[in-house]
Amino acid sequence: MSRRPDLPDDGSPPRLPGRVPGRLPPVRGRLANNAPIGPLTWFRVGGPAEILFRPADPDDLAGFLAAIAPDIPVTVIGVGSNLLVRDGGIAGVTIRLGRGFAAVAAAGEAVEAGAGALDLNVALTAAEAGIAGLEFLSGIPGTIGGGLRMNAGAYGAEFKDVVISAEALDRGGARHTVELAQMGLSYRHSSVDPAWIFIRARLRGSAGDPDAIARRMADIKAAREASQPIRARTGGSTFANPPGEEAWRLIDRAGCRGLVRGGAMVSEKHTNFLINTGAATAADIEELGEEVRRRVHDSFGVVLEWEIRRIGRPLPAVAPVAAGERAAAGGAP
Ligand SMILES: Cc1cc2nc3c(=O)[nH]c(=O)nc-3n(C[C@H](O)[C@H](O)[C@H](O)COP(=O)(O)OP(=O)(O)OC[C@H]3O[C@@H](n4cnc5c(N)ncnc54)[C@H](O)[C@@H]3O)c2cc1C
Repeated sequence: MSRRPDLPDDGSPPRLPGRVPGRLPPVRGRLANNAPIGPLTWFRVGGPAEILFRPADPDDLAGFLAAIAPDIPVTVIGVGSNLLVRDGGIAGVTIRLGRGFAAVAAAGEAVEAGAGALDLNVALTAAEAGIAGLEFLSGIPGTIGGGLRMNAGAYGAEFKDVVISAEALDRGGARHTVELAQMGLSYRHSSVDPAWIFIRARLRGSAGDPDAIARRMADIKAAREASQPIRARTGGSTFANPPGEEAWRLIDRAGCRGLVRGGAMVSEKHTNFLINTGAATAADIEELGEEVRRRVHDSFGVVLEWEIRRIGRPLPAVAPVAAGERAAAGGAP
């Protein structure tokens, strides 16, 4: 028998130490203490955010960042389609951009979008306005902010092919406009200061035939349905493709298709996707990923790098109950 001193007796989620509440400035958006984050991610796992802040709009966010103490950690999330939140939760403030950041509008052959806008909505707005070149966004289930950070890409295009510029707030709340050339976008990577929060982007398209755009989006939808477990609790591609290789093929050849750890499984449909089959913990998913990395390395000498962003902290290790305590509790000697 063992006990977890970090878990409340009533089965509610673990509570974080609670240093931050009481040190926060007034805002127009919503602040919540000890807020569940798992439901805000595709994997549906992970511990709570010490504080969850949903700013009303960019000015609200800028004022908040300017006012909070610099020692409070700040984490921004989009719709959590590329995130694994660990079981012990996220210390400090977690920021989720909502409706006040989701506006999308066509402007000539460009589209302007808030960082909280879904990529799909940007693709649909472009299609309606007869703007070609942004169809690939319909195949990425994230937000514009997450796409800029990850330089997300699919079906032959990625953010770096279409970004004109982006606006971001730094940790002190100051606004910056960054042009494409300053963003250092490469395969699933951006070199924009990791503390900056994107609030808006301008994306480039070109005049196109609406029927051809609609056909391209339908093709992308069909290809995704055929090749990805898109209705599963997953984080998309787990590992970046190593140079000249495809991660899914290495994982498959290393014998990991269908591999299980607790409630986590390597997808049978796409071996670079890990799946929460129902009751996985973040630890199950992360340990399964590490097992896959070990097997691929042992088989081919290739080190897979995580593409999924793992954030937060693990639960403390389970403390074995001392013999005396066990006897007092009526357990076996
Ligand atoms: C079924 C499925 C299919 C997928 N297919 C693809 C694919 O084809 N191609 C692809 O590239 N990806 C794919 N992904 C991964 C994911 O959709 C992308 O990485 C997406 O861009 C993440 O956006 P998000 O809003 O969910 O970001 P999150 O997952 O919430 O966050 C990802 C990272 O972006 C940062 N971030 C989020 N918002 C901001 C912001 N406003 N400012 C600064 N940083 C921010 C976060 O801190 C984090 O580091 C897939 C995922 C799933 C579940």
